Amino acid sequence: MTAGRKTVTILGATGSVGTSTLDLIERQPEAFEIIALTANSDVAGLASAARRTRARRAVIADEQHLGALRAALAGSGIEVAGGAQAVCEAAAMGADWTMAAIVGCTGLSPVMAAVEQGGTVVLANKEPLVSAGEVILAAAQRHGATLLPADSEHNAIFQCFDFDRPERVRRIILTGSGGPFRDWSRAAMQAASPEQAVAHPNWSMGAKISVDSATMMNKGLELIEAARLFPVPAERIEIVIHRQSIIHSIVDYVDGSMLAQLGISDMRVPIAHTLAWPDRQATPMPPLDLVAVGRLDFEAPDPDRFPALHLARAALSDGGARPAVLNAANEVAVAAFLARRIGFLDIAAIVADVLDRFDPPPPATLEEVFAVDSEARRWTAQAMEVLTA
Ligand code: NDP
Ligand code: MG
Repeated sequence: MTAGRKTVTILGATGSVGTSTLDLIERQPEAFEIIALTANSDVAGLASAARRTRARRAVIADEQHLGALRAALAGSGIEVAGGAQAVCEAAAMGADWTMAAIVGCTGLSPVMAAVEQGGTVVLANKEPLVSAGEVILAAAQRHGATLLPADSEHNAIFQCFDFDRPERVRRIILTGSGGPFRDWSRAAMQAASPEQAVAHPNWSMGAKISVDSATMMNKGLELIEAARLFPVPAERIEIVIHRQSIIHSIVDYVDGSMLAQLGISDMRVPIAHTLAWPDRQATPMPPLDLVAVGRLDFEAPDPDRFPALHLARAALSDGGARPAVLNAANEVAVAAFLARRIGFLDIAAIVADVLDRFDPPPPATLEEVFAVDSEARRWTAQAMEVLTA
């Protein structure tokens, strides 16, 4: 560790959140020292980022790319490793600040490895929190780790929430843009292509979360995420469509005051908040021009076209293994949609079908969460075979 510099590890450094995080960090080389960067298969992106930041270690999860990574980093002095276990080892190197930005429940083991070091772990990667929220929170408490939310809505709530007086919070209002299909008919949605689903009107994000935004499963996962992170009963967390994505979420207090966080729709804003917290740091983006924004609109989500919202709320209120089943089924169905094996509306239909048929007992340990997750994936694969037969 270099005196005075905050040590940083980025899990999923080549993705949308990972590169936004690197952008902020590379502007302040005097403030941050990179311990480890990880990716799945993007050797060029990982090697370039590792060289630019003089990272201590670069790790590629998909081991078949290890040779290419070694070649790309030859002579750099940067340690190189490959495989899922090596990603966990990188997460366990004891950085002061770790960005968890792997996509999907694959990020769960690395998140746990980081939490067990007791530093600050910033959660963009929401799926582990949905599937194993209780386990992660208990581990954070046990190891004295600080969890900070990078997801823009949860970061907004974190900034507005009075943790000393949670009983004075009447409601949390999660805002969502409604995604690219907010004005589409069901018939048009069923024919939607992966290209149309990932073309988000306000945010630039990885493919999986972009599809989740289009089905609004993203808002459903965020509902569960909010219930894990903030001491407010699930029935007092509401979802409102706000198509401009300027207000990132709202905390409503018993006296009628509503506190909201506003900002441009750029993930560097919430990420910068977590990088500097409890301080603040400047970001390169221009100030938000409210006059140019002009108006802020709000509307209720449509439960018929976006059934994922109801599925997620039911999974949260049923608790136990339900959120993990929901998440696993959704991950598999989204991957199948992106591979053009199923239609867009089939995603939620398949998740509903798996939830109907697979109802395992509540998992108490990490191993049990993984067992539920992999069993739910098997059920989902079967459900898709029936659908596509
Ligand atoms: P991306 O798909 O853009 O990036 C995913 C990252 O994870 C990449 O670095 C990728 O490596 C790596 N990765 C993928 N699969 C594996 C694997 N099996 N093992 C190890 N690493 C893997 O995703 P996003 O950045 O969009 O999202 C990351 C997480 O943050 C998600 O959980 C998402 O829901 C959440 N989030 C994202 C937001 C956004 O604006 N993008 C906003 C709020 C939350 P490679 O490049 O080599 O494939
Ligand atoms: Mg979000």
